[in-house]
This record gives sequence, C-alpha cells and structure tokens, in this order.
Amino acid sequence: AVKAKAPAVVEGAELIGITVPKEADFSGWYQQVLTKGDMLDYYDISGCYILKPWSYSIWEKVQKYFDFRIKGLGVENCYFPMFVSAKVLEREKDHIEGFAPEVAWVTKAGQNDLEEHIAIRPTSETVMYPYYAKWIRSHRDLPLRLNQWNSVVRWEFKHPQPFLRTREFLWQEGHTAHMSEKLASEEVMQILEWYQGVYRDILAVPTIPGKKTEKEKFAGGLYTTTCEGYIPATGRGIQGATSHCLGQNFSKMFNITVEDPSWKDGMPEEQKKLHVWQNSWGLSTRVIGVMVMVHGDNKGLVLPPNAAQYQVVIVPCGITARTTDEQRKTLLDAVLDIEKELKDAGIRAFADVRDTYSPGYKFNDWELKGVPVRLEFGPKDMEKKQAVTVRRDTGAKDSVALENISGQIQTLLDTMHQDMYNKAKKSFDDNIKICKTWDEVVPALDNKNVVLIAHCDSEECEDEVKENSKGRVDADAPEDSRAPSMGAKSLCIPFEQPEGEHKIVPGVTKCVQCGENAKHYTLFGRSY
Ligand code: AMP
Repeated sequence: AVKAKAPAVVEGAELIGITVPKEADFSGWYQQVLTKGDMLDYYDISGCYILKPWSYSIWEKVQKYFDFRIKGLGVENCYFPMFVSAKVLEREKDHIEGFAPEVAWVTKAGQNDLEEHIAIRPTSETVMYPYYAKWIRSHRDLPLRLNQWNSVVRWEFKHPQPFLRTREFLWQEGHTAHMSEKLASEEVMQILEWYQGVYRDILAVPTIPGKKTEKEKFAGGLYTTTCEGYIPATGRGIQGATSHCLGQNFSKMFNITVEDPSWKDGMPEEQKKLHVWQNSWGLSTRVIGVMVMVHGDNKGLVLPPNAAQYQVVIVPCGITARTTDEQRKTLLDAVLDIEKELKDAGIRAFADVRDTYSPGYKFNDWELKGVPVRLEFGPKDMEKKQAVTVRRDTGAKDSVALENISGQIQTLLDTMHQDMYNKAKKSFDDNIKICKTWDEVVPALDNKNVVLIAHCDSEECEDEVKENSKGRVDADAPEDSRAPSMGAKSLCIPFEQPEGEHKIVPGVTKCVQCGENAKHYTLFGRSY
C-alpha cells in the first residue's frame, strides 16, 4: 500500500515534448524522439551511442524471441574473442575486400606500437572458421551450429544514424556448417522466416523477403537472403536482416572438410574430402531504429505492445485539494491492485503513483516514451468499477470494467499490435510502384516510393540505375531533405514476383534500365 500523502506537483516540471514535426525535419524528429523517449544518449565518439534501459529492454525481447527459436533448431550460443590477426582476417580475399575500409585496428598498447596490428572483428567468419576446421573432423560433427550475441565494429563513413548505422552495434551472428547445399539452404530460409517474425511479431513492422543481387550480396558468400523494410516518412528502404549461404568458399579457404561418405577405395585422396557448406546470419539493434521510424509520431515513441517494457501504465486521476487522505489512500491501493492483477496475468503493467507529478505530466511523459495503453483511474471510475483506457497508437479512449480487466487489456494489446502492423503494411504496399518504363522511376522515387522494375540482373546496369536515379542536389537543404536526391540501390529480388499482366516473359520482357532481356523484378529504392 502507498503511504497517504497530499499531492505536490514539482514546480516547473512541465515536460517539453517533441518540437520538430516528423514530416518537416525527419532527422531532427528522430533524434528528439530517441533522446526524449529515453531510448538512447549520444556519446563523445561519433557513430557510437548509449542504449538506455528503455531501448535495451526491446533488444532483450528480440533476443528472447529469436534465441528460443534457434535453440529449438539445435543452435548453441558461444563466445569468440573480438580480436583477429591481420593474417587470419585476410584469408578470404573477397571477404576482406568487402570489409577492409571499415575495419578498426589496434596498433598500440600503452605507448608501445604493436609489432603486429590486431583488427577488431567487423563480423566473425574469419575469427571462428579456423576453429571449425579443427573441430569438424567427420560428418558426425555436422551440422555444427553456433551463435553469438555480441557486438561488432564497422568504422563506417556513411552518415551515422542511431540504431540504423552505428560504428559498434549489438547483434547475433550465427555460423553453421552442413553436409550439403540443400541442408544449408533450408536453414538459410528458416532463419530468414524468423527474422521476418522478429519484425512482424515483436515490432509490428512488415518486411519483404528476397534475395540480394550479386552486387549487394555478402562479401565472400554464395548468396544472401534478406528481409527489407520501408520507412514511410522518407520513402527509403532499409535492409532488415540478412541470412547468407556462404557455400564452400570459406570452407575451402579455411580447409574445413569431412570425409565424403560417397568415397570409394581407389579414389584419389583429395576426392575423399568434402568441403562443408556454410551459412552465416545476423540481425542487429538496427531493428529498434526501424521500429521507431515506422511507428513514432509527433508526440514521441509509439511502441508496439510486444516490444514495450511497460505495456500498460496506470495513472491515478482526480485527486484534488479536497480529496481526503483516506480517499486518496483507497484510490492508490485500488491502482496497485489493478497493477497486480495485470502483472499476475503476464501483462507488463506499471502503476505510476509518483506523487510529485500531476496526471497531465505523467500522460505526456508516457506518451513520449510510447507506452501502448494508459489506464486512467479516478474516484468516479472506482464508483463505476471501471477504468478508462487510452491507446497510444490512435489516441482512442474507451472504458473497461474492473471485472476481468486483464483479459480485456490483453485483447486490446493484441488488437493494437495487429492494427499497428496492418497500418505499416498498408503504407509499405501503397508505396511499392511497379514501373514499366524508366520515365516512371525517378518521379516514383521522388514521391517516396520504392520501385519494382523488370531488371536484367547485371551489376553494371545496377550501377546505371543508381547513377540515373540521382535527383537534383539542393546544397542548402537540411540533411534529410537532401537525402532523397541519392541514387536508388537494389534492395532485393523479392521471392514473390509479380504475376498476371506484369509477369516476366523470358526473351520478351526487357530490362527497364538497359533494354536487355529482363530476368527478375528487382526492388530498388533510395535507402539507408
Ligand atoms: P551483414 O553482416 O553485413 O549482412 O549485416 C548483418 C545485419 O546487421 C544487416 O542486415 C543489418 O541489419 C545489420 N547492420 C549492418 N551494418 C550495421 C551498422 N553499421 N549498424 C547497425 N546494424 C548494421
């Protein structure tokens, strides 16, 4: 029970909300939503940010969802060192070419220059695979499926963005080895499904699954699958998470072999060996930024119920100077009872009984932080045995009976999750434009769409698309309004290809950019 005490409101405690509209200055809005919503703080090293408990708790929900599933598949967690020697890092040529510009190096210890510089992992293929070569001896050691929840460092020079593109980021990286391409490929797709699940089920964000083009695939891999997101406010695409089939490239470089079960006596020694088929897959804290950008509004964060640390806050209302201590105590006790009932039912509820803040202040505070449902509870509600619910996503007000309140709240949370997903899905679907001719492409991009175009799959043509879709650069415009002038990159070749009138007819349908025979519809967009 709460100690009965008259309310006192802190002088000057009115909260300053979001002061830049999402539509007018997206970058400024994003920064404010994150800092005022208590998700993150800036750090004195550019591109590095502090994840505060409010955002870290979302990461924990993502971890729980994904970790549970991969363990069911037989994946085990482990930890490898963050340092890698130059010699080992450079073993796979294409791989290091892809990552070299972003690798951070340790060159000194104290005042002494290190004789051999040591790299900080940008990803752990080269860190782990020498040990895979040692540990995998026979087909009985397969599949080997390891994962680590760790951080990696990529010293990116592109404009850093909290969560989306940071120099150190948290992620999970799974690294597995299999007997055959088929087994490896099945896993690649299973993981990709769970990545889509993280976005759909935890973050209420739709993604489009597909394959990366040769140009955009993971350096050194065989093929990359991805789920691609979309930020409606800027019309830009964002790579959601990637699941790579590495083929046998790394196993050949690192000599990871088992004896081929099909070998026969008299076969030359080298043919008795089978290079294992490998995958790697990663999902990072970027997911949190995508969620914020998709759902947030001009009052702050809007957290989907499955991601929010508090799904419901209960705010006692209607306490005035005339309220007696006894009445006040009864009300606050009732609020704590509601909190307990919700918590017992597995709902993440929080009773905000801080007596130094007014209800109005608390409303704004939880709105900034994006808590899905606010329950208002005052003396009149107590009489009527009800509470008032306010949805963060729509602002809709309703009342619920105290009788079986947890069941009703759970239904409301489930509805909200689905509504938020549907809204985001509609805005993604409405902004994918199929362009039949090049003339339609740039106007569609300028209108904040991503475009689906019949494409020849060639890398040179992809470069041309990028070059030809650059808009006019307005040097005086603030960063984000300048951004739409960037060229469009290929996001993915969606697994689900247009059918009916749009279906690609081999030898007939031409590439929208170069006029050669089109192979697939490829999703292009200006992107993060
Ligand atoms: P990759 O190993 O390059 O395929 O990256 C795996 C996943 O990590 C990507 O799909 C991104 O979602 C995410 N990611 C890549 N670079 C960054 C970064 N600089 N900051 C945050 N997330 C990143």
